[in-house]
Amino acid sequence: MIGYRMQIADAHAHLVEVEVEAEPTGATTRFALPAWSPGSYLVRDYARHVRAVQADAPVRKLDKQTWSVDSEGAGSVRLRYQVYAHELTVRTSHVDGRHAFLHGPSLLMYVPERLREPAQLELSAPAGWQVLTALPGDGRLFHADDYDHLIDAPIELSPALVRVGFDAAERPHEIAICGLGDGPIDGPGLARDVSAIVGCAADLFGGLPYERYLFLLHLAPAPQPGGLEHRNSAALLAAPGSFRPRKKYEELLELFAHEHFHAWNVKRIRPAALGPFDYTRESYTRALWVMEGVTSYYDRHLLVRAGLLPAQRYLDKLGEELARLRQIPGRLVQSLEEASFDAWIKFYKPDEATPNSTVSYYLKGGLTAVALDLTVRSASGGTRSLDDGMRLLWQRYGRAARGFDDDDVQALLEEATGVALGSFFDASVRGRTELDLERVLATAGLKVEPPAPSEPAEPEAGYLGVQTREIGSGRSQVAVTLAAGPAERAGLYPGDELVALDGLRVDERTLRDRLATRRPGERVRLHLLRRDELVELEVELGRRPPDALTVKPDPAAPAPARALYQAWLGAPFPT
Ligand SMILES: [Zn+2]
Repeated sequence: MIGYRMQIADAHAHLVEVEVEAEPTGATTRFALPAWSPGSYLVRDYARHVRAVQADAPVRKLDKQTWSVDSEGAGSVRLRYQVYAHELTVRTSHVDGRHAFLHGPSLLMYVPERLREPAQLELSAPAGWQVLTALPGDGRLFHADDYDHLIDAPIELSPALVRVGFDAAERPHEIAICGLGDGPIDGPGLARDVSAIVGCAADLFGGLPYERYLFLLHLAPAPQPGGLEHRNSAALLAAPGSFRPRKKYEELLELFAHEHFHAWNVKRIRPAALGPFDYTRESYTRALWVMEGVTSYYDRHLLVRAGLLPAQRYLDKLGEELARLRQIPGRLVQSLEEASFDAWIKFYKPDEATPNSTVSYYLKGGLTAVALDLTVRSASGGTRSLDDGMRLLWQRYGRAARGFDDDDVQALLEEATGVALGSFFDASVRGRTELDLERVLATAGLKVEPPAPSEPAEPEAGYLGVQTREIGSGRSQVAVTLAAGPAERAGLYPGDELVALDGLRVDERTLRDRLATRRPGERVRLHLLRRDELVELEVELGRRPPDALTVKPDPAAPAPARALYQAWLGAPFPT
């Protein structure tokens, strides 16, 4: 057994003190900190925050994240160190005078030869602080089956938490909320809604895969809101204003649904590369789109199933996402499998080339899951759906606790649904062609259209094809030039500071207004600063791709399409 002791050494200095004790593995014993965290596919080098490493015997550092302690003849070997923790995200640790969020991979070292041994963690919380974690224990002493289990349960320590519990599918759940909401927090209302979502997910899979579950929600104006899934818990980070208006609250519920769906999809149904983990380096899989895209599809669809999101609201959001995908040139450059495999160096390391060269396996993956579900429903005459595929993945892999081979996904879904999916996977998963959502939505009696023009109709604005950012005092700098767009064709580059349009000054605030007075096809004169030199360019403005598309029931839809709509969205086809 590996023993851990952890305490807040100095909250105002954001320091956690850790001690690891293990039986020696020989003349020397190695201790290592993970380079990354399961669920977040970026090498974060957590060891950069480790300091003051010491032991009773000589210690040597072997590489960026591994230490070796002389242990010849020793009965046990102990390593002590401090970790600086002051980054509030769901994938890092954060300690201050008000609370502590302890994220295992950033704090707890493992002995490489002893990863599968049980672990015990003794935690000293500041007086009066509550301790919340999914690890089994008594609030001070916790137990884990092995290292993977130990670090797969974040720990929240706080003197003030809003806590609400509920039972769903006969299992206890708890939501703990840390931080002030923007206005009163409706804990019971949230518990009721999340309970309905959990119930629908349990219905899909035929029961819950855990004994109890904990949601840890931080409300903070974080630059990176989001969540991180764990085996029996989830860490969520959302803006203080997440409870109202309704649109914000729907997003919060989607976040809960998303991380909870991961209790099956990725925590238990997983590609072979994602567990047991190699914590020292990148773990490659071409199936992240299944883990994240399919989960993104279900997170919102579960709200529909739970009666928390009306069918047309769901379709409106679908239209927004489809429009967003169509604005990204990279969707025709990178396939879903490539996006999955390269998450480590692309999705998690965005730069000026990202929109032109990559596609998000969340965004395209979610829309591909919509297309996959409708393709199956349509081809099977409504007798099968993507739910059948998820159930087979759960039964054969999740329940059996073994990872699937990336290449098996298509065959498994075909087996579960009886629908041949080769051409679908060739085009939408392995291929880089346009996702033809219009055709699949038509099978559910839906048509996709540009939004109706406003009344009175505004003339169409000119389009430059850039993303800009503010660089102090409102100055506008080109962040991205979209591939094959007007700006790129005219020779505008990322980094250029926009100064004037047709002789009138532009900044972040006025650029869009000035473009609104010009039309597609018009030529404008741009002044810009490039490496401090004044440059003048002429740009022929283009046509802006729509920010949203409408997805609406087609009054001419035939009866089978209407039936598919009703089965898919649980509501009668609007007449
Ligand atoms: Zn996710």
